Amino acid sequence: MRPFVIVNYFLRNWNYAGYLAARVARTASPKLDHMSEAQRLSVAADYALQGAKQALQGMRALVLTGAGISTDSGIPDYRGAGRTPKHPLTFDSFMGSRELQVRYWARSFVGWSRIADAVPNPGHIALADAEATGRVLHVVTQNVDALHQAAGSKNVIDLHGRLDRVRCMSCSQIISRAEMDIILTRLNPGVSKDNEFEFTPDGDAEIEAYDGFMIPDCAACGGVLKPDVVFFGEQVPAVTATFAMEQLGRADALVVAGSSLTVNSGLRFVKQAARLGKPIVIVNLGVTKGDQYALAKVEASTSLVLPELFGA
Ligand SMILES: [Zn+2]
Repeated sequence: MRPFVIVNYFLRNWNYAGYLAARVARTASPKLDHMSEAQRLSVAADYALQGAKQALQGMRALVLTGAGISTDSGIPDYRGAGRTPKHPLTFDSFMGSRELQVRYWARSFVGWSRIADAVPNPGHIALADAEATGRVLHVVTQNVDALHQAAGSKNVIDLHGRLDRVRCMSCSQIISRAEMDIILTRLNPGVSKDNEFEFTPDGDAEIEAYDGFMIPDCAACGGVLKPDVVFFGEQVPAVTATFAMEQLGRADALVVAGSSLTVNSGLRFVKQAARLGKPIVIVNLGVTKGDQYALAKVEASTSLVLPELFGA
């Protein structure tokens, strides 16, 4: 831990000069005048950001992203500040109950279009650009919305799977969620996809009556169809977790963007980076479980911070 203490000390002192410079620049900078207060970084966040930017200079980072990076694309962070859903759908309960499968797909049928229509925001785009310039080695995401790929990132590891794919739990055949939507629409001609519901990042939407909702089995083998995402109570596939850790080993630094690190599948990257002596930068609104390991912590929206952090 000693190198971290030393660098932290350096950054604190260096940052004091940066802090004063930022204050002067802010009052003098006309280019920020068109932005509302909510769109601006606080002085404290800007101060931390300049330190983080300095610390990452000339480095190739592995970036771990969570729900916070997608909130500005209209996908709410249902865990919020460390919250978990009241009644998470677990792998065992889904696989063990046809009723829960029907409920899942009925809700997903209504909620899916909101996820499918979401577009990448400046945070996703900044990471895709930084990959193109060699500053980001890999993005490891806890999100299932595939917005990094939509933004143009090539090296994306979907730690928790992807909601745009559906997997047969017997023969492993994959169909697209779009194809599943066509099948569900055909099976349930009377059900409306009214969009005015509360929804969560896994495409869940509240609908009153799912009695009589029809769901398909695998066309190839009759098996159970499940969204290709890691449910609560399900492990990240070992091959995926191992590959992601190997990429962390190749990177110079770890950047956490929009995750409170409440799930161990994310926190273990921070602990491993700390063990390997790699600098850790955290960008998140709110406290994270990895804060104690971070060289710099920027408390602000990823859409504001990432373009600046990886900018010229
Ligand atoms: Zn099958």
